[in-house]
Amino acid sequence: MTSNRRFRIAVMPGDGIGPEVTAAALAVLDAAVGADAGFTLEYEHLVAGAAAWRDTGSAMTEDVFERAKAADAILFGAMGLPDVRYDDGTEIAPQLDLRFRLGLYAGVRPVKALAGGARPLADPRGADIDLVIVRESTEGLFASRGKGTVEDDRIARDTMVITRETCERLFDASFRLAARRKTRGGKGRVTCVDKSNVFASMAFFRKVFDERAARHPDIEPAHHYVDAAALDLVRKPWEFDVMVAENMFGDILSDLAAALVGGMGMAPSADIGDAHALFQPAHGSAPDIAGRGVANPIATIQCAAMMLDWLAERHDVPACAEAGRRIDAAVAAVLAEGRARPADLGGADGTEAVTRAVVDALGAFA
Ligand code: NAD
Repeated sequence: MTSNRRFRIAVMPGDGIGPEVTAAALAVLDAAVGADAGFTLEYEHLVAGAAAWRDTGSAMTEDVFERAKAADAILFGAMGLPDVRYDDGTEIAPQLDLRFRLGLYAGVRPVKALAGGARPLADPRGADIDLVIVRESTEGLFASRGKGTVEDDRIARDTMVITRETCERLFDASFRLAARRKTRGGKGRVTCVDKSNVFASMAFFRKVFDERAARHPDIEPAHHYVDAAALDLVRKPWEFDVMVAENMFGDILSDLAAALVGGMGMAPSADIGDAHALFQPAHGSAPDIAGRGVANPIATIQCAAMMLDWLAERHDVPACAEAGRRIDAAVAAVLAEGRARPADLGGADGTEAVTRAVVDALGAFA
């Protein structure tokens, strides 16, 4: 028997296509979570982002931050506009503030080839791409955000920070994820991606990885230098399971990996900490297509499923995980059966048509 649990979801649509793909995810959530689901979702819409900064002088007020912090989970669209910048030339990026301030150290980015989706690469033996990149999201090279220096217009410095405390939590979360995936047919492997052949910070990252690996004997630890990992993500991506990387390396590799399964519109992401979690597509605000109704909402819809799965595990509400699985199954069916094909996958269907197809498909998985 499931508890009749209420979850408060902070909804932060943000900039550009953020509001478009967020609306799509909410429509799918409404369809997936029926009145008799055994749990309910209550949404609180919060304004933050580059447009908010331009219009009000604040990218994210303290009140908005506190409301997001108090929620059970955060559903996030995208924030940032390339032509809206601080005086130092950097962009307005409240999503980075949320990651840092809420301790969302594990950026979990699943990369899965779906039948009917885009597959620029194929394994001759027929194996499918099904990997997860865990991007450390609170330190690494991004620790230098707002602290970098430029001296005399001549020399610039940013500093990488790797701490034992964050590494231990990050690696433990990665091994737990691999163990969970193993129960569903995963390879049971975590690959540490680093540059330990050159940098002391990265040698330390690998040392802590090896220490934590010893605590998870059922999962195979592996190592890859980041440059070779980029090569093998293109050469044989189906051989990876869970990959864990420093913030900047994970940032770059997760975009590369997204391209293997259809691009940014197919790349969901979750920023997870010990007490909070934020779910957002890996893509940005895509100003080049904003307002045209052509954004692919699938990544954000998959984020909604990840959110339900996380809430289910955290609060022991199996019906919540079940609703998430139904959303994933509906997305898979829409693509496999060609019920809708988003524009970025070469189709002619816009955001609304893809969303409607997923909502319709949910009926078959009730
Ligand atoms: P982007 O991800 O917004 O866009 C890259 C390319 O992918 C563009 O051609 C875009 O049209 C396409 N694309 C992205 N999402 C798509 C979707 N759902 N459907 C179809 N096509 C899609 O990256 P960018 O252009 O480098 O950044 C644009 C803005 O977004 C910048 O201001 C950047 O700082 C910000 N950004 C925000 C986040 C975030 O909020 N987490 C992440 C990355 C970039």
